[in-house]
Amino acid sequence: MEKTKHNFYNLTLSELESVVAEYGHKAFRARQLFQWIYAHKVTDLDKMTNLSKDFKQDIPNIFNFEMPDLLTEKVSTDGTRKYLFSVGPGLSFETVMIPAGDRNTLCVSSEVGCNMACKFCFTAKQKLKKRLTASEIVGQFIKVQNMLPKDIQLTNIVFMGMGEPLDNPEGVFSSIKILTSELGVNLSRKKITVSTSGLVDKIPLVTESGARLAVSLNGADNQTRDRVMPINKKWNIEALLQACLDYTNATKDKVTFEYVLLKDVTDRPEDAKKLIQLARKIPCKINIIPFNEHPNSGFERPSESSIDRFQKVLMNNNIHVLRRKTMGRDIYAACGQLNSVYKNNESTQTRAN
Ligand code: SAH
Repeated sequence: MEKTKHNFYNLTLSELESVVAEYGHKAFRARQLFQWIYAHKVTDLDKMTNLSKDFKQDIPNIFNFEMPDLLTEKVSTDGTRKYLFSVGPGLSFETVMIPAGDRNTLCVSSEVGCNMACKFCFTAKQKLKKRLTASEIVGQFIKVQNMLPKDIQLTNIVFMGMGEPLDNPEGVFSSIKILTSELGVNLSRKKITVSTSGLVDKIPLVTESGARLAVSLNGADNQTRDRVMPINKKWNIEALLQACLDYTNATKDKVTFEYVLLKDVTDRPEDAKKLIQLARKIPCKINIIPFNEHPNSGFERPSESSIDRFQKVLMNNNIHVLRRKTMGRDIYAACGQLNSVYKNNESTQTRAN
């Protein structure tokens, strides 16, 4: 019986070596193939000049090279690009490329849909449909990099697209291993950020991976956080902060707290006060994200003046705080707006593939 083929993009280098050995080839053949594909961006087997003939002939028997299908690409007036990918019927998800100076950040999805049920989040309206495999995450990076103009290199990855990365540790941490391998893409671990809603028991995996940790706090006391993020009922703020402290102690890095500003829910003066108290307990920076509205969310974006006021209170208390700029608004690529079902006017450039 024919063996099922391995998806090449699912395999870390050491897994690739084992597979190649299983088929009776030398382990260094795996390294050669890995280098051709990830470092030299060559996928045509005929151009892989140092491979032996019998290994080359065997490659199509051992591997497939499937990546997610690109459905559309949209380019915003601010340079942000949004890609809609599909991994099967009803299984589409989005990836966003955000340029900022000499940094080009790819915001990848880790799941189609999400089970975390955060009350303000658009993806949460779609229950979890699929945890993406490593190849489906690596595929977002490789496909986007290949489509970008030659002078734009992806420099950073954030797991802040659709899904909860720590609900899919297998796909997420394999993809990180693959993309940081020195023989391949060789992205620095410090340029990868894993953002979690607070799956406390999985935070040590981020520490181990060498990636940076971001935590969606979105509330500075248990009552508020319970209201907007049901995960807080499983792991409360105290448990979450302990896990963050373990991370900062082990890595000597700061943790990034994301804080969505919801009018009259998380933007009150007492919220700012509590957030300051909390931020003093742990090496951190805070990213405030004004709520991006979507229909029937039941929440509102605060006024510009109250967003400013909230940020200033934190700054005046020497908290390292940044306001997340809203990018790609015209193509619905902004934080929390990612969902292929949510399409409005199609006035922007669309490239079908
Ligand atoms: N599940 C992960 C990563 C995906 S969400 C997490 O929770 O961190 C990425 C960020 O977008 C989170 O900080 C989340 O709080 C924020 N977000 C979700 N919906 C939003 C919205 N409508 N407006 C602004 N930020 C939103």
